[in-house]
Amino acid sequence: MNTIRRLTILGSTGSIGESTLDVVARHPDRFKVVALTANNNVDAMLQQCQRFCPRYAVMLDPSSAEQLANLINNNVGLETEVLAGIEALEKVASLPEVDVVMAAIVGAAGILPTFAAAQSGKLVLLANKETLVMAGRIFMDLVKQHGATLLPIDSEHNAIYQSLPHKFNGNLSAEGVSHILLTASGGPFREAPLASLEQVTPAQACAHPNWDMGRKISVDSATMMNKGLEVIEAHWLFNAAPEKIQVVIHPQSVIHSMVQYIDGSVLAQLGNPDMRTPIAHAMGYPDRIDSGVAPLDMFAVAHLDFEAPDFERFPCLKLAYKALAEGGNMPAVLNAANEIAVESFLNEQMPFTAIPLMIEHVMLSIPHEEVSILDDVLKADRLARTAAREWLANLK
Ligand code: NAD
Ligand code: MG
Repeated sequence: MNTIRRLTILGSTGSIGESTLDVVARHPDRFKVVALTANNNVDAMLQQCQRFCPRYAVMLDPSSAEQLANLINNNVGLETEVLAGIEALEKVASLPEVDVVMAAIVGAAGILPTFAAAQSGKLVLLANKETLVMAGRIFMDLVKQHGATLLPIDSEHNAIYQSLPHKFNGNLSAEGVSHILLTASGGPFREAPLASLEQVTPAQACAHPNWDMGRKISVDSATMMNKGLEVIEAHWLFNAAPEKIQVVIHPQSVIHSMVQYIDGSVLAQLGNPDMRTPIAHAMGYPDRIDSGVAPLDMFAVAHLDFEAPDFERFPCLKLAYKALAEGGNMPAVLNAANEIAVESFLNEQMPFTAIPLMIEHVMLSIPHEEVSILDDVLKADRLARTAAREWLANLK
């Protein structure tokens, strides 16, 4: 007999949120949904409420919350309470009747509710890598201080977690680890002629060869900023010095990352590229549970290829290493500038190739500062967004 895990899913209408609910639906004996949250997608949220009957549904946007509340009130039998705004997101991330919080909001918007979950000692399943990029040290300290447990959902970090010794305590060299090998597909433009990148459309950038994801992370994968953010994420999660994290281009996305040990062993986690595997791993942990993912067919895969990353083709990767080396407010500046750059590209306000230019400009224009509390991080985030918008205005 399993004890039931009671869940809040932050960002339930997104790609990770939907995959999480798919895993939940396979295990009604293990999971109970207490709260679901979204930005403004009322239709998707109503459907999820009808299917999973949560105690709370939160919409960030107040008018979406009002619409949802009207629809729910007309739906006889549904007792879901609808809440609105950022405080409500923090509330459902820290409810006493919740054990597990899936942090799957996209971008810096996820930081406050993810912090709230850690602060209330939850089992935090972290998809929102931006929290660690912006405020890695502060967040890891908070997790420790409040006795929260952190399990990585990002497929690479989940693979690394699975390839490290059980109950890894943050000391890589004591465990005989020589390197973390962080795999990357290289995205849709790994082999595209460099001159063609100027003309890339949002639809092309979002068409990832192996993974089906939200639009922001899809563009991040096309610029390889996603891998840069993941280097910073790995640094904090595994207490790994930047030179201990080697990015390895692996176009098939079958190996999700590896850990190299000093005796010559390399341990890897493999599987079909489907986020339900790392989600099920973390949701069931330490038990293994069915995820709905098809078994890996090695004969169909046939080849596994590897190459070194090309920093000239992917300047965003270089910028992320630079932000990590500079530390302090710089990773938060990098992250915020990247969010504005991706949004501006998706809105067709600037070309794909302007993304690293905007980020580099913003990183150079904001002075380095140390960060010791969340407010310092939020200030860096605000300054970077303003600088990025100014750069865009001058571009026109
Ligand atoms: P998505 O865009 O598909 O979904 C985002 C979710 O967040 C939605 O439910 C949306 O309503 C909500 N949201 C958006 N803006 C919000 C705001 N301002 N306030 C509150 N809620 C808001 O994104 P996704 O692809 O599911 O990614 C979610 C997170 O997981 C990101 O941090 C991403 O980097 C990470 N991640 C995703 C994948 C993937 O395969 N999709 C893999 C690894 C990591
Ligand atoms: Mg990843």
